[in-house]
Order: sequence, then C-alpha cells, then structure tokens
Amino acid sequence: MLGNGPTQDQFTILCPYCGESVEVYLEPDVEGNLVQDCEVCCNPWEVNVWDDGEDRHIEVSRTDGLG
Ligand SMILES: [Zn+2]
Repeated sequence: MLGNGPTQDQFTILCPYCGESVEVYLEPDVEGNLVQDCEVCCNPWEVNVWDDGEDRHIEVSRTDGLG
C-alpha cells in the first residue's frame, strides 16, 4: 500500500559481514523478504522490508545464521 507521502527507497544499512555501511535501493513496491548481495564483500544478505503505515523499515541479516 502506498500512501500520499514520498516512499523511502534509499536505505543505508550496516553489512552484517564486513561492517561497512552500504546504500541500498529498493523499489517502492518491494516488501517482505529478499536476498541481496553486499556491494562491498559480495556476501548475501537476507533483507526484510516492511511498512508500518507511516514509515518503511529495513532489516538485514546474514543468510548463514551466524550473525
Ligand atoms: Zn559486506
């Protein structure tokens, strides 16, 4: 669901593998779980995207379950 306000599509996250802060772009209609590779160390993140009605949130974790 898209509101009237601007939808945030640019996020800065900390890579759970290499610790670098990386900017990620997510299409405005992306929601749920996806896998994306870190631009710095190329390890795969598990990315969780959700919308609480006001803000868009993003959470990144390791796919190997060690982080
Ligand atoms: Zn990384």
